[in-house]
Amino acid sequence: MSNTAVCPGSFDPPTEGHINIVERGLKIFDKIIVVVAVNSTKKNTFTAQERVAMLREIFKNRSEIEIDSFQDSLLVDYARKKKVGTILRGLRTIADYDFEFQMALANKKLAPEVETVFMMTESQNSHISSSLIKEILTLGGQAGDMVPAIVEKKFREKLKGK
Ligand code: ADP
Repeated sequence: MSNTAVCPGSFDPPTEGHINIVERGLKIFDKIIVVVAVNSTKKNTFTAQERVAMLREIFKNRSEIEIDSFQDSLLVDYARKKKVGTILRGLRTIADYDFEFQMALANKKLAPEVETVFMMTESQNSHISSSLIKEILTLGGQAGDMVPAIVEKKFREKLKGK
């Protein structure tokens, strides 16, 4: 297995918190596959295609970063299909920890050969979440440096379209 990790998430939308985890992950991994996990029972603001397109724009011209998506299947099955042995996830709060701990143990049970690695958020990103960004922008605030300009633009277009 190559020194590659998959970095899965909803990315609805991608934030500077996500980007920071991917960038720092590249100090450890040669390649990171950022993968949009699509759960068709979950209501998302952006379609899978829109989320993939934003991530491709954010990480354009980066050969060490691949953007992909998978739908209604297990992350460990996706990792096996891509022959990747590591899952990279970010951690912000104790609430993240509870959820991530459960997911990591479940994934280990499902696929013992796949390891989960956690990277602690950096302090300037610890408050950033996709849902907070959407709330701020919906209520007329500025997302500032919490999301790339392309994300703010796409979200404002969505708001106008409503
Ligand atoms: P999910 O629905 O799978 O939790 P998210 O898109 O919300 O997807 O998050 C994907 C990953 O990115 C998770 O591991 C999450 O903890 C991490 N993450 C999200 N925001 C931040 C942040 N501000 N700092 C560090 N990690 C983050």
